[in-house]
Amino acid sequence: MTIVEKPQSEDEAQAMLRALVRYYKEPVMPMSKYCAAFITWSHAIESNREDFIGEFGNEAMLEIANIAPLIQTAIMKSSLLSRLLYAGQELRTEKCALHKGHWAGLYSERPNLASLGITEECTCWDGWEASGWVPIVKQEIPPSET
Ligand SMILES: [Zn+2]
Repeated sequence: MTIVEKPQSEDEAQAMLRALVRYYKEPVMPMSKYCAAFITWSHAIESNREDFIGEFGNEAMLEIANIAPLIQTAIMKSSLLSRLLYAGQELRTEKCALHKGHWAGLYSERPNLASLGITEECTCWDGWEASGWVPIVKQEIPPSET
């Protein structure tokens, strides 16, 4: 199998995406397209808010339309979504002993942890963020000796 490290043209990139779609049997697109779709979806619901009132109303959609700006902000600012989508991490399920499930900071450079109140009791610090949740560490499964 030939693996191309980096496509040399848009046509080659599109061909690689089509190959991935055939392999996974589902859409494969750049992350930016998915993010834009979420925002477009929430803007569409928000801008059609009046359509969810009255004879053909839809109470659930009206509630979503009412909080669409909050949804948009939450999507754009979500550290959890970033970890799930960009870092490919799993949902963390164990709360940090110190931060107890509450986000406590994101840093582009290693901060002085003690000055931020991040002590040895903290089990959520992953090198750039104190998410409040303990990172899931994948353990290597040794190859079978059979
Ligand atoms: Zn912590």
